[in-house]
Amino acid sequence: MQSTLVRVGRLGRNCDYEGIHFDHGSYEQPSPPSTIHPALFSLEDRITHGGQVPSNRTPIEVYTDGSKINDKTGSAFCAIANEAITKTWKAKLSPANTVFEAKMLALKAATEWVNTANEDVNIWSDSESSLQALKSFNVKSKITQEAEMTLLKNARIRLGWVKAHIDIKGNEIVDILAKEATTDGIPASLPFPKSFLKKQLLQLSLSRWQTEWDNGETDISVYSIIPQISNKQLHFSGECIQFATGYGPFPSCLKRFGLHSTDYSGCGEIGNPLHHATRCPLYLINIRNQAHNL
Ligand SMILES: [Zn+2]
Repeated sequence: MQSTLVRVGRLGRNCDYEGIHFDHGSYEQPSPPSTIHPALFSLEDRITHGGQVPSNRTPIEVYTDGSKINDKTGSAFCAIANEAITKTWKAKLSPANTVFEAKMLALKAATEWVNTANEDVNIWSDSESSLQALKSFNVKSKITQEAEMTLLKNARIRLGWVKAHIDIKGNEIVDILAKEATTDGIPASLPFPKSFLKKQLLQLSLSRWQTEWDNGETDISVYSIIPQISNKQLHFSGECIQFATGYGPFPSCLKRFGLHSTDYSGCGEIGNPLHHATRCPLYLINIRNQAHNL
């Protein structure tokens, strides 16, 4: 699973895993670093985020948003001039795409649209992490890099953070547009994030493990207690593990390994885990004495 993840997600190679073909072209690949000189990367002052609300109004204000509902992802922006909506844009992404990608795509699309207008424009987002990413020189995401390149070419565009759901008209409108976009947006094919590849590979691995566990012939006693596999750790006590596996100081186990001549317990019955846990007088007396001493 790890080798498929590296081959498809990092080395740009195609790979088959558990009968499924993984094409590296469908997944986000690490982008080469930006070709811009750090001294020319002047976005720090043009992108504000964290607690700031729209103050310096421009003739056109553009609001962006991304949405994920019922496992569908949508991206949208709208432009408002003189209290009127002058432009809307809606895109529908794959269910595999994240809401972060949707919000970043909206910012990129808005930036490219604004770039053609030759005036001061504010572009707003309620995503702190997207704005933070756009200010960073070392980003690996391709759409973020592309948005940065457009921003660097046009100094009249400023980006700012807007708090969600506090009745800022433009933001309320774009929130609705992004939700609509999950069903009626124009299809946008964004490569799937690496996290999605990881999730797919993990599901295939878990289902193979379950099949092997269902059809296996060893550890039947454990299977009857834990039929469902999981990669989450189970917190069983030492006694529980001995009981479930049958490996413990039971005559039935000791005999199998040649450490005891018989599988009978001192009380005269077969000394298996269930006997020891529920019926063996020798063992239960021992437990009662321990309880008494406490
Ligand atoms: Zn016994």
